[in-house]
Amino acid sequence: MRVFNFSAGPAVLPEQVLQSAAEEMLDWHGSGMSVMEMSHRGKEFISIANKAETDLRTLLEIPETYKVLFLQGGAMAENAAIPLNLLGSKTTADYINTGEWSKKSIKEAKKYCAVNVAATAEDKNFTYVPLRENWRLNADAAYVHICTNETIGGVEYHWIPDTNGVPLVADMSSHILSRKIDIAKYGVIYGGAQKNIGPAGLTLVVVREDLLGHALSITPSALNWKEQADNDSMLNTPPTYSIYIAGLVFEWLQAQGGVAAMEQKNIAKAALLYDYLDQSGFYQNPITKADRSRMNVPFKLNDESLDEAFLKGAQENGMLQLKGHRSVGGMRASIYNAMPVEGVKALIEYMKEFERKNG
Ligand SMILES: *Cc1c(COP(=O)(O)O)cnc(C)c1O
Repeated sequence: MRVFNFSAGPAVLPEQVLQSAAEEMLDWHGSGMSVMEMSHRGKEFISIANKAETDLRTLLEIPETYKVLFLQGGAMAENAAIPLNLLGSKTTADYINTGEWSKKSIKEAKKYCAVNVAATAEDKNFTYVPLRENWRLNADAAYVHICTNETIGGVEYHWIPDTNGVPLVADMSSHILSRKIDIAKYGVIYGGAQKNIGPAGLTLVVVREDLLGHALSITPSALNWKEQADNDSMLNTPPTYSIYIAGLVFEWLQAQGGVAAMEQKNIAKAALLYDYLDQSGFYQNPITKADRSRMNVPFKLNDESLDEAFLKGAQENGMLQLKGHRSVGGMRASIYNAMPVEGVKALIEYMKEFERKNG
């Protein structure tokens, strides 16, 4: 029996995707091989990779002037690739600090350039997105980096900042494909696949073409976006099986009505959970309402001594991985695309019952 899996990542995948993968495991489309066993340069796998890219372009309405790269190394590797590829002759970059993942990006960038933290939400324990009017951007910055969904803190941008023509770079690891995005407003978007796209091992980079070709000479080839783009992300062996599963997820998303339809479902799921938390005197979510994440919902029991009993009871009721990140404590429900509304309703029912028994 399958559980409701609230993990922040690697995370729940659509059941139909897992079923298709199971059916095709030993023999993909009459090839007599598993996708895992195919050459990445063979016509079968090339067709899988091309279809995945085409479907992703359709889902996100990616303009022709952007390259789509299927890489490895996770968002963590891209945190290094970003300055390496984008600094060019500049020596400084702007970063907005909205929490744990922003901090990781900043730490990595500091190895390669001067980082100007143009705004930070540290003063209120990363419970909000700093207003654009309070950002102190540097006109000489090579780019402006934001994390549009802080997976650990549960803070999401519901607006796109204007950066006065300086390329905007966004870590979208944990909410890509959860909502419509105007790609043209960004220079680069990137993310690890294991939150809302597919299995771990695949890293997605979407980059505007004019930003390619300025990499520092020390840039490792595997992280060089121009070299990867020129080789259709096959400069070296790409994460073939992860690309295949991501492709099945893209097909599933299209069958669900695409990103716009998914966004409506995600709005409804998040509203159910936040409305319940807000009327409760037993649980609470600390994030400013306008900046709350639709994907990652952290919450605390007012009485922390009940945390363990809460998690144990949740597990007994088939709801797993609700423990919050160690840096913030409490609970976190990640409700990505593949989490059905039934899972959110089941969680709320369990929370009500737990409150009745312990409140
Ligand atoms: C998970 C996550 C990362 C880290 O991704 P890796 O693939 O493990 O490197 C970075 N940023 C955000 C917002 C994340 O959610």
